[in-house]
Amino acid sequence: MTLSANLAAAKAALAHLEIDDNPVSVRAKSRDFFWYSPVLKARLDHISADFVVAPKSEAELIEVLRVAYAHNIPVTTRGAGTGNYGQAMPLAGGIVLHTRHLSAVTAIHPGRVIVQPGCLLRDVDATCKAHSAQELRMFSSTWATATIGGFIAGGSGGVGSCTWGALRDLGNIIRLRVVTMEAEPRVLEFTGEELHRVSHAYGTNGIITELEMPLAPAYDWVEMFVTCETFPEAARIAADLGREDGILKKLITVFEAPIAQDYFQRVAPHLAPGQAVLGLMIAPHAMDGFLTFAARYPGAKVIYRSDAHDWPRDPGPVFEYGWNHTTLRALKVDPTITYLQVRYAAPDHLEKIEAIRAKLGGEVLQHLEVMKENGATMFAGLSLVKFTTEARLDEIVRIHEAMGCMVFNPHRYTLEEGGRQSVDDRQLAFKREADPKGLLNPGKMIAWDEPGFDYKNVYAYKGMKRP
Ligand code: FAD
Repeated sequence: MTLSANLAAAKAALAHLEIDDNPVSVRAKSRDFFWYSPVLKARLDHISADFVVAPKSEAELIEVLRVAYAHNIPVTTRGAGTGNYGQAMPLAGGIVLHTRHLSAVTAIHPGRVIVQPGCLLRDVDATCKAHSAQELRMFSSTWATATIGGFIAGGSGGVGSCTWGALRDLGNIIRLRVVTMEAEPRVLEFTGEELHRVSHAYGTNGIITELEMPLAPAYDWVEMFVTCETFPEAARIAADLGREDGILKKLITVFEAPIAQDYFQRVAPHLAPGQAVLGLMIAPHAMDGFLTFAARYPGAKVIYRSDAHDWPRDPGPVFEYGWNHTTLRALKVDPTITYLQVRYAAPDHLEKIEAIRAKLGGEVLQHLEVMKENGATMFAGLSLVKFTTEARLDEIVRIHEAMGCMVFNPHRYTLEEGGRQSVDDRQLAFKREADPKGLLNPGKMIAWDEPGFDYKNVYAYKGMKRP
């Protein structure tokens, strides 16, 4: 049977479910924020599924997988499509399986929540806060629009990581319920080491249908902007604050000038040229500790605090200036901007940053997020880059790596290139078991399609739909 015949047969077999085959909306549901990268935009802009199915239960989801398996149709799972590397884009077409109806918070207990994958991060928080004054430990800064399933399958950390580390760290995910892509899909429950099989696996080897996540006490966080006259001083303060374990914080982000001056419209009027800016979230009861800490740095000035300000225009949530919102705000002002994702590991993270600034200053602007890693404070660098050519962007990546700063390349759509340039054997082994036909989100796991790939060039998935 040809693919088109198989598609028609599959659509007929699923006709009793919620199907969208309107080309315009199907295309919209086939895209994410891949356009952050001019490299991905050039390669993925034409990608669209053949149709979208939005199951209303795990049973319906299993039905979709059973029919797709029988008709050899690729299935790409979609939360809210806010991923940045084309993770939710169906490179080979086929079905986009939308989880928007699987959005219930099913149980809340002290310190943990059980939730379906399509629930928005914002709604998980609102439900847990109303139920028992609890909240998620961490969330992506797309909190208002992204789903918790997409965060676990496609994200890495975010607001809260300055205290709790990354999603991959033990304890930051409690349990995942996963459905396989087989003739008779199985439902499996993962905890402990098994979680790595499917967390941050882009839905390439199983579909998450339930999550159990840790919670922390909810606070009305005091959100602040703090200025410093120099960037090195701001980075030093951020690193020192990250080590103040008694001060409860949820965000420590640093912006080199002129990021805030040029791209943060509501903050810019309150800044002097050249000033570096910190964005912070501190628990209300920790404010005395924080202000005592800040007083030790004469150059640090609190210019805004969410609980008491006289700014004519409220800037909105400070976390929506950090993480990957920084790039979004910059892109709205200057479409030639793109970004990198750099790991500045302790203990010489500050020295590495200064070395990169000396070498690439002006072309690469520093935006740092404090994260915990193995108990130490380190920086995730979401640097802004003035894009010129792909060749120059690749050269900038090579310069970072030659200076000991690992780059999780956001200009690639595969797990390996966007990760540590290596195969995750646990994820590959589970794909062999759970998705033997390779129908889940094809093209995103190089090790499945091209085991001997050498990472010297940009990977090009051979099964990608042609424009
Ligand atoms: P989608 O984009 O829909 O999907 C992401 C990946 O997960 C895809 O591969 C998809 O196939 C897969 N997937 C989705 N649901 C399931 C499921 N149920 N089972 C299996 N696979 C599934 N990311 C961060 O980690 N931290 C940040 O702070 C952050 N900030 C961002 C800021 C902006 C402005 C933007 C545009 C992006 C940001 N991101 C960040 C990336 C992205 O927003 C987050 O990772 C987000 O949580 C993804 O959720 P989503 O519902 O949009 O997932």
